Amino acid sequence: MTSYAYFHKQFVPLSEARIGVMTHCLHYGTAVFEGIRGNWNSEQKQIYLFRLKEHYERLHNGCRILKIDLPYTIDELYQITIELVERCGFQENIYVRPLAYKSSESLGVRLHDLDSDFLVFIIPWGPYLDVDKAKCGISSWRRPDDNVIPPQAKITGLYANNALAKTEAIEHGFDEAIMLTPDGHVSEGSGENIFLVIDSKLVTPASYNNILMGITRNTVMELAQNELGIETIERLVDRSELYMAEECFLTGTAAHITPIAEVDHRKIGNGEIGEITKKLQKIYSDVIRGKNPKYLDWCTPAYKK
Ligand code: PMP
Repeated sequence: MTSYAYFHKQFVPLSEARIGVMTHCLHYGTAVFEGIRGNWNSEQKQIYLFRLKEHYERLHNGCRILKIDLPYTIDELYQITIELVERCGFQENIYVRPLAYKSSESLGVRLHDLDSDFLVFIIPWGPYLDVDKAKCGISSWRRPDDNVIPPQAKITGLYANNALAKTEAIEHGFDEAIMLTPDGHVSEGSGENIFLVIDSKLVTPASYNNILMGITRNTVMELAQNELGIETIERLVDRSELYMAEECFLTGTAAHITPIAEVDHRKIGNGEIGEITKKLQKIYSDVIRGKNPKYLDWCTPAYKK
């Protein structure tokens, strides 16, 4: 099975998709990316692309911020992605990585007077965090404010912040970092949003806490409300609330719903996967594989029958 890319308006083997060393985004982080999951349903022999529309809407919004001229409508991006999945023909979970970037081979820090291009490629990709439950540490790296570099967009340059936090966490023996806002409130993981269970309700940092508005975050909020009757409160979260929470978990396209066992060497609950987290994991796992008819609108089947 070969990975393919859509690159320079053509479908090519991934190994042939190459950019020049002077490409602007390589030097200045002037690109916007997405991460989309294609989830393998073995009974139906189908790959379901999860919430494609929302991912491409977020990409379009990021392009507005970075003044990237993305010459494709959401519909066209849909079609390109489906054709790419079909060409690759994987029969396992996949990850789709679209990138809209400043493509001029030209140096000089700026956003104006530069060409833009779009590429997307697919790789097979299993679990991201590689653990059933994660040990997290509060990072010494803070999440930037919107007027430093907007965390609401997946801007490649922004992810140096996430990389600093992630590697610090791993070097300290944790699985994942939890970053705070500059004023010391809980923001998010290096590639995930965070939820707490307090008094049997979900609590999560709000849009003004320098987070990426995660699509999995939104999915979990909807599923918790519709399927379990549990509401989510979006608000400021203190660091110490993490230590006292009944349950905590991370959400992300790559990480799905990953329970948190410990924060800063303090067990969350009894350190095992919490009841609400477990229920949400089960519901979510069916929904993303197209197994729950109520949520098929979120799932785009890639293979023709
Ligand atoms: N926060 C950050 C910093 C991320 O990189 C991601 C992954 N895209 C998320 C949160 C989760 O977002 P989503 O659920 O849309 O993947």
